[in-house]
Amino acid sequence: MVKVNVKFSVMFKDATGTTATTIDVSGETVKDLIDALIKQFGPKFGERILDEKTGGVRRFINIFVNGKDIRNLQGSDTKLEEGADVRLIPAVAGGKEFFGLTQDQIVRYSRQIILREVGGKGQKKLMRSSVLIVGAGGLGSPASLYLTAAGIGKIGIIDSDRVDLSNLQRQILHTNDDIDRPKIESAKEKLQKINPEVKIITHNERFAVENALDIVGDWDFVLDGSDNFPTKFLINDACVLKRVPFSHGGVLRFVGMTTTILPGKGPCYRCLTPEAPPTGMIPTCQEAGVLGAVPGVIGAIQATETIKYLIGSGELLVGRTLFFDALEMRFEEFELKRSPNCPACGDRPLIKDLSQVDYGHVCEVRF
Ligand SMILES: [Zn+2]
Repeated sequence: MVKVNVKFSVMFKDATGTTATTIDVSGETVKDLIDALIKQFGPKFGERILDEKTGGVRRFINIFVNGKDIRNLQGSDTKLEEGADVRLIPAVAGGKEFFGLTQDQIVRYSRQIILREVGGKGQKKLMRSSVLIVGAGGLGSPASLYLTAAGIGKIGIIDSDRVDLSNLQRQILHTNDDIDRPKIESAKEKLQKINPEVKIITHNERFAVENALDIVGDWDFVLDGSDNFPTKFLINDACVLKRVPFSHGGVLRFVGMTTTILPGKGPCYRCLTPEAPPTGMIPTCQEAGVLGAVPGVIGAIQATETIKYLIGSGELLVGRTLFFDALEMRFEEFELKRSPNCPACGDRPLIKDLSQVDYGHVCEVRF
């Protein structure tokens, strides 16, 4: 019987609940230690480290005893001395990487990789995905920060505004030093500091009828962080036409709402609101105000939905609209059904071309 100190890679933490422990081994070899570990942490841990075909330790898992790879010692027959330090880490180099992730990536994303719903496979999916964020403002700020931190492969940001002093109360991507700078420039700089691995593509232009279809077609998912009805309807119509899934979000005063739209698989924004309210009927944030933390909440939900869609886990906000009332501190959910008469996604859609719609005014469909 020997007592050894075992350290695990963080990759094993969901199975062991720890990254370091002291184990009493009834035998004296690495093989005896593995048996003791499986006895302690259960079959789930066993599946993780043992090859189901050979019954031996999986080839991509390295075991070091006192800093030496057991492959250069006696393999699983390597003897353990009292107090030996044993480390179990998945190989991360030479083509036997953990899902092709580098050691730095494993550490950077470890808190989400250990989630069963994400894992190495989900992380790779995120790293291969692309997300377009329309607007680097109140919703786009928190959303882009979380999506960049999560390691989305490519993030596009489209915004033609410059940072204004009055933005800083809620648009947390931008700082005092950024006043008068193009928002996309300020956004890219901050995001790259958080995660230099993410490719940030910037479009210093308005999301408009002329470019909408070309732009959305390039992305796996679109996040609506816009602040006006014409753009929201334009995002909806372009995404429905191009069949690109997107997250809708909107905020005003103390309230926010969000829903996730999968064209062809659920209702769209026009099913809920067939036409934008006439200009002036619903005030803008500029006119009515907004508490900065409200777009923070909604933007973070939109980022969460984006990630869930990309990794294919959980229940999306499809066919449901989530309302958030910060004053009452209440979330409410309403069913959203596809309308057969919807001009965008109905049985006989009227919108076949964006030029049919007058987005500059009230987003009515013209024929
Ligand atoms: Zn619709």
